[in-house]
Amino acid sequence: MLTKKVPPLESFLALVSRHTSHLARQRYDVIVVGGGHAGTEAAAAASRVGAKTLLVTQKINTIGALSCNPSLGGVGKGHLVKEVDALDGVCGRAGDWAGIHFSILNRRKGPAVWGPRAQLDRQRYRQFIQSELLSTPRLKILEGSVEELLVTEPNPEEPGHHRITGIRLAGGSLPISAGCVVLTTGTFLSGSLFMGQTTSPGGRMGDAPSSTGMSHTLRERLGLKMGRLRTGTPPRIVKDSVDFHEATLHPPDSQPSPFSFLNRHTHCKPEEQLPCYLTFTNPGVDNVVRQSLHLNCHIQQDTKGPRYCPSIEARVLRFPGRKHQVWLEPEGMTSDLIYPQGLSMTMPPDLQLRLLREIPALRRAEIQTPGYGVQYDFVCPTQLNSALQVKSTQGLFLAGQINGTTGYEEAAAQGLWAGVNAARAALSMPTMVLSRTESYIGVLIDDLVTRGVTEPYRMFTSRAEFRASLRPDNADLRLTLKGFEEVGCVSSMRYKEAVRVRDSLNEALAALQDVTLSTTNWRHKLPHVHVSEAKTGIQTGLELLQYNDVSFEMLATAFPECLSAYREFAQRLKIEAVYRPHCVLQQKEIERIQKEESMSLPQDLDYFSLPVSLSQEVREILDRVRPSTLGAATRLQGITPAAIVHLLNYVLHSERKQKRMQRS
Ligand code: FAD
Repeated sequence: MLTKKVPPLESFLALVSRHTSHLARQRYDVIVVGGGHAGTEAAAAASRVGAKTLLVTQKINTIGALSCNPSLGGVGKGHLVKEVDALDGVCGRAGDWAGIHFSILNRRKGPAVWGPRAQLDRQRYRQFIQSELLSTPRLKILEGSVEELLVTEPNPEEPGHHRITGIRLAGGSLPISAGCVVLTTGTFLSGSLFMGQTTSPGGRMGDAPSSTGMSHTLRERLGLKMGRLRTGTPPRIVKDSVDFHEATLHPPDSQPSPFSFLNRHTHCKPEEQLPCYLTFTNPGVDNVVRQSLHLNCHIQQDTKGPRYCPSIEARVLRFPGRKHQVWLEPEGMTSDLIYPQGLSMTMPPDLQLRLLREIPALRRAEIQTPGYGVQYDFVCPTQLNSALQVKSTQGLFLAGQINGTTGYEEAAAQGLWAGVNAARAALSMPTMVLSRTESYIGVLIDDLVTRGVTEPYRMFTSRAEFRASLRPDNADLRLTLKGFEEVGCVSSMRYKEAVRVRDSLNEALAALQDVTLSTTNWRHKLPHVHVSEAKTGIQTGLELLQYNDVSFEMLATAFPECLSAYREFAQRLKIEAVYRPHCVLQQKEIERIQKEESMSLPQDLDYFSLPVSLSQEVREILDRVRPSTLGAATRLQGITPAAIVHLLNYVLHSERKQKRMQRS
């Protein structure tokens, strides 16, 4: 995969512009509006499913642009990138191509919550995405701003229900018709930019906002409930003006781990990777923030911003006197800019410079582009179903920041799934759902459509109830097979590779089970391993692999005839062995819930005082709806599988207690 030649951006633009004149006259199965992270995955996925697809975006040269941090992945987000890749999406391979500093975050914790992350070269990332879309069969690209969504009048038998028929571009052009439309306008819907006391219309610096016609159609014509959110970005600093010796060096991993299951190596060689640096804020930074508040209109607004990626102003106001981390990250292999992660700010540019210069490593800092904030409209995502289709408008799908999320990975994951479903709907195939038990994408979509958002939503591993089985290492086994066999969005080449991996892992696990020795013999065989005294009798190789100090390589060396063929999968087998007991328990819980579907729930249950771990939100829903059976509870919006397990355990425990009391 990484041997693929990526053409320079100029040749891509030349090819696209030759196509544009006749594109508008055709009819498409799917039109995707917006060429950001959601839009590019949506367009590529719809095409892979077999739909004749058109991607319309304001500027072709910003397709695949990283609006903020040049990085991909991280804790929770890395899981999404691996899952998008497992479904044959683009961003994982683009990350492998453009990464210049790879690291696995959270490595001190278990592999289920490791966060694969890469610092990216902005230009290369964009170049890869653009080249990938250009070579995608059935996909055409058109530069233009969509002014209006075309919808039918509501059906008199189903008031309020519309059907999408196409789009109209700004400038009074002819309509372009389509079976389905995927809207991925990011921060551009009624977008306003903020810097100091200045406000101007914009979706991001240098780009106009989405037309007012679009917001009008969504709000007035389709009657959708909308909200407003905000985010911001830090100033970009000239690299030569940074004193890196005043900060702490953070080298990349010595062996970069690719995001994509198709790649064994990243494009950047291990020794070519660039370092990042860590420094901290100090009281001087706090002072500049406080003294500039009256000149900072973004921070004075009530609109909700990203809680987990806040501006420096929000951090200082929330945690006064605390030292805050500032990561100094390269913007590209040959870029002369540094991205100061943690210093997103919206004060006037002269004060931004003053603030930076309070930090020793940035005492001589020069700003290339000042930081700024953006506020934008989003559509309350509870108005969508699990296929990301607007419930009241047949054929209209929404994905990305327009649904109230923040982050490239969250956008890409939704985009892929909306693209898949738009294509399936347009081709008269049933839409599909990914469940919380099989993927983080399922968790993300379920959270959005059942709970909605009150602040920008980002993914965390804590949001997934079935973390032990939803690991980054096994996303291919969870999703690639389904993606090919049921969904139709995975190529046969990737499918064949996933089948080979699955079969080899199964064979290796069976071989490990077949290696059996008594505890005494294991001690002879692996003298450096402390084999538990508590374990007596026969133990299998799989059980031994669960020990912290046993690696697959050690077992393969001890039993080369049956295990050495599987050395390629050493790390995956180790992780599989460690998590196997947890996964077996989880699977039993899932099956138990399915078996107890018809169990009656007492109608007089006081959900507010149940002595089990249920969130206030879950208690309120259960109290309000009072489901009659466990099965009915599982289908309620906002009730998580973990809550169902707690409820099931409580009711079974109470029943047993009651029976004991009756007997005595
Ligand atoms: P975008 O990447 O915004 O793409 C939207 C696309 O739609 C663009 O290509 C645009 O040109 C196109 N478009 C819009 N309207 C139309 C139209 N009418 N017709 C045709 N095309 C249209 N995320 C974080 O996780 N952390 C952060 O700190 C952070 N800070 C940010 C700061 C700023 C200033 C901005 C702008 C974004 C920030 N983000 C941050 C968000 C991150 O960029 C988004 O989450 C991500 O890009 C969303 O992807 P998307 O595909 O939904 O939208």
